[in-house]
Amino acid sequence: MSTPVENAATAARTAPAAVIVAIDGPSGTGKSSTSKAVASQLGLSFLDTGAQYRAMTWWMISNGIDVTDTAAVATAAGKPVLVSGTDPADPTITVDGVDASGPIRTPEVTSKVSAVSAVPEVRAVITELQRSIARSAPNGIVVEGRDIGTTVLPDADVKIFLNASAEARAARRSGELGGKGAAAVDATKQALIKRDAADSSRKVSPLAKADDAVEVDTTELTLQQVIECLVTLVEEKRATT
Ligand code: C5P
Repeated sequence: MSTPVENAATAARTAPAAVIVAIDGPSGTGKSSTSKAVASQLGLSFLDTGAQYRAMTWWMISNGIDVTDTAAVATAAGKPVLVSGTDPADPTITVDGVDASGPIRTPEVTSKVSAVSAVPEVRAVITELQRSIARSAPNGIVVEGRDIGTTVLPDADVKIFLNASAEARAARRSGELGGKGAAAVDATKQALIKRDAADSSRKVSPLAKADDAVEVDTTELTLQQVIECLVTLVEEKRATT
C-alpha cells in the first residue's frame, strides 16, 4: 500500500503543472473570445486586462478627473479598488465593490481608455495586480492584453500574438457593437486604428509582440480554428514540461 508521501508525490507527477498563457494583440482580433474558450477547455483561470484599464478609466470619469490631465490621473491611480473574477465562464470586474462590467463598455470609456492606460502610475498599479492574480491561479491562467508577454509576465510558458487585418477587425467589432453597413464598419475601423496607434506608440509597455511569441493571423480563420490552434500550442508545451 502507498504511503501518504508516495501518494502526494504521484499526484504531483500526474497533475499538469500550472501553465501561464499570455495572449496579446490589437483590438478586434478575437482575443477575448479565444482566451476565454482556451481557458475553459484547459481548466485554467482567465484574466481580461483590458477590462482593468477600462475600469480604471470609468472610475476616473465617474470621479470628475480629466483623463487628459496626466498628473491628476497619476495621483488618483492608487485609489480605486479593482477586483477581477477569473472564472472564464463568468469573468467579473468590480470597482470599489460596484459591478463595472456594463459601464466599462460604453463608447466614452472606449474613447478615453488609451489616455489613461498610457500613464505610468496607472500601469504600475495594474501590472502589480495582474502579477498577483496570475501567481495565485491554482491551475494556471490565460491572461489577455497588450503587454502581457513583453512586460507583465515575461516568463509566461506560452506567448501568443493575435493579429488580423484592420478590415477584418473592424467588421468583427462592428458586428459585436450591433453596427450595420459600410459606414458603421468604416467608423469602427478608424476608431480601432486610432486606439491601436495610441496603444502602440505610448512610452511605457506599448502594444508589442514579444520576441518569443507565436504570431497567429486570424484574418482568414474562424473563432473555432483559432481556439483549436491555441489549445494545441498549450498542450504541446505542457507535454514537454
Ligand atoms: O482589450 P480592450 O480593448 O478592452 O482594452 C482596452 C484598452 O486597455 C486598450 O486600448 C489599451 O489602451 C488598454 N490596455 C493596455 N494594456 C493591456 C490591456 C489593455 O494598455 N494589457
